[in-house]
Amino acid sequence: MTDVRLLVQRFDPLTDEKPRFAEYSVPKREGMTVLDALLYARDYLDHSIALRFSCRQASCGSCGMKINGRLRLACYTQVEELGGEKVVAQPMDNFEIIKDLVTDLGSFFAKHKQLMPYVLRSDSQEMDHPSAEFLMKPEELEKVLQFTYCIKCGLCTSSCPTVGTDALFPGPQALAQAYRYLSDERDEGGKRRIDALDTAHGVWRCHYAGSCSAVCPKGVDPALGIQLLKRHVMSGKARSEGAEVWKQQAAAAPPLK
Ligand code: SF4
Repeated sequence: MTDVRLLVQRFDPLTDEKPRFAEYSVPKREGMTVLDALLYARDYLDHSIALRFSCRQASCGSCGMKINGRLRLACYTQVEELGGEKVVAQPMDNFEIIKDLVTDLGSFFAKHKQLMPYVLRSDSQEMDHPSAEFLMKPEELEKVLQFTYCIKCGLCTSSCPTVGTDALFPGPQALAQAYRYLSDERDEGGKRRIDALDTAHGVWRCHYAGSCSAVCPKGVDPALGIQLLKRHVMSGKARSEGAEVWKQQAAAAPPLK
């Protein structure tokens, strides 16, 4: 079998002024993934390459990166599906680079937590000392099921043009998870969650580019979740500043031709 040309973007913010590409020649084998190629390069050619990975089976979301210009999981992308000759690995956009292919996901997880991705109940006694499971009916589970497949890889947030221009925007992952819990029949934390996302930098900043859904490796449709979230807020469950601003802008916009 021939070798594959592997180009890895290298950048250490502590020592480098700007990113550069390093090229490695990696022996190809059947079924080789991009992660396999990167690990071969790191183990046998250059120990200094920095990358993050864990499960190797598209479950943990650690190895998200830009591969041949598209956001993907390295463990879930075969070299052969990229043409088998050249692989270009770069870190995800919209996040600070820690080193090479490793990005800082601190803000991503902070936004995820900010929208309270868990069932909230008004009875604090039951929250702290649950007496039983809060069961879901199968038809209720069906409504939110796809959003539970999220592995928090960050690819959708990396692809989002609004995240790229507004650091306070929660991003598609956090908003889709907010919808997942808002639409859960067991949840009683609607107002708290809506107050956190119905702001000038919140849900209304989504312009429905749709790139989040296009790159998700788990079949989640965050763009759909965000549109359903807007409907949820507008439906009268909560009306506040963000929705009002959006309605005023919509009323002032020129008519569509
Ligand atoms: S919605 Fe998809 S792309 Fe976004 S973090 Fe979850 S699994 Fe990754």
